[in-house]
Amino acid sequence: MTQFDSFQLDPLILKGVREMGFEEPSPIQEECIPAVLRGEDVIGQAQTGTGKTAAFGIPLLDHVDTSRRQVQAVALAPTRELAIQVSEELRKIGRSKRVSTLPIYGGQSIGRQIKALKQGVHVVIGTPGRMLDHLRRGTLNLDEVEIFVLDEADEMLDMGFIDDIEAVMKFLPEHRQLLLFSATMPPGIRRLAQKYMNRPKYITVSRGEVTAPVIEQVYYKILENGKLESLCRILDSEDVAQGIVFCRTKKGVDDLSEALQARGYLSGGLHGDLAQQQRDRVMNAFRHGDIELLVATDVAARGIDVGTISHVINYDIPQDAESYVHRIGRTGRAGRTGLALTLVTPREMKQLRSIEQEIHGHLTPRELPTLEEVAE
Ligand code: ADP
Ligand code: MG
Repeated sequence: MTQFDSFQLDPLILKGVREMGFEEPSPIQEECIPAVLRGEDVIGQAQTGTGKTAAFGIPLLDHVDTSRRQVQAVALAPTRELAIQVSEELRKIGRSKRVSTLPIYGGQSIGRQIKALKQGVHVVIGTPGRMLDHLRRGTLNLDEVEIFVLDEADEMLDMGFIDDIEAVMKFLPEHRQLLLFSATMPPGIRRLAQKYMNRPKYITVSRGEVTAPVIEQVYYKILENGKLESLCRILDSEDVAQGIVFCRTKKGVDDLSEALQARGYLSGGLHGDLAQQQRDRVMNAFRHGDIELLVATDVAARGIDVGTISHVINYDIPQDAESYVHRIGRTGRAGRTGLALTLVTPREMKQLRSIEQEIHGHLTPRELPTLEEVAE
């Protein structure tokens, strides 16, 4: 078994890794870290929760020369929340080495970001649109960038960022190392890799979760107009440490989080139309445990990694199997057991069956708790 200390990392980075509580590299890290350290371009394909952030983050941070106050590595991520999350993880791993990281994303005051950039940072993690904005204003300079990362590349393509990504790449120096991480490899990603990468090393792990997630998958057959009532009964009978409740639309998120708050549940809504300040406030409250239930759309919740999520609840059934897998992947993180509950109306049974078929598995039917059980 490979250990972190066999990679010959900077002792300060090794210290950062230890402080994260990582004992051994995950399978993708085991292959990816040495390849990146050797200077190779890398494509890493692995499902969510396999430790892709640290797979590129560790060698990237190792590579940074802190005596040069210039941006030396850049990562693009699909959402603001992910940019913040990746930046946070890199900041922690690089803390002892004193690597400075900065997330830049739309919705936050650009003036504040410009000020932070002026002070000199080593690593920038941004969403494609805002990154491009800074590049065009000349407030971010990528001339000294040696490592460029596309994180969650499939998500970025799904969200229509391809033009922005390619526009950002034009600002990169010719000689740079390119790393691409993705859970899936649709043709668009392969084209991107072919166009920009230099004989990339392709690393894939089929299993190899950081620790295999154990997610129990259950569904409740409910009535269309009894959804809220059913959800409340479930919440009252379950021991929910923290949960994400998924809705199909932004309006659905607003309505449901309001209804839950009105009933005394500690909840907050998250979707793309909310002001950035509001989104940050909700995510912080959720991370700190001040909110028990995060009500969110698929997009807003992408990639969110909060270790204490015990329940994922599909208030609205996901549109397809891919969305289902992404959603339930928010629980069962870091070896904890998670519970994924899906509410299904009679009209949606067909959709449930098609999801089951695609994931090659099936969800266990469960009866709604009775009022007596709830009262206990
Ligand atoms: P991915 O990007 O593949 O979905 P993440 O990079 O978000 O996965 O990692 C998932 C979780 O696993 C994070 O909480 C991360 O801190 C943790 N993690 C990563 N690598 C290790 C490791 N080697 N040992 C233990 N936990 C790890
Ligand atoms: Mg990731």
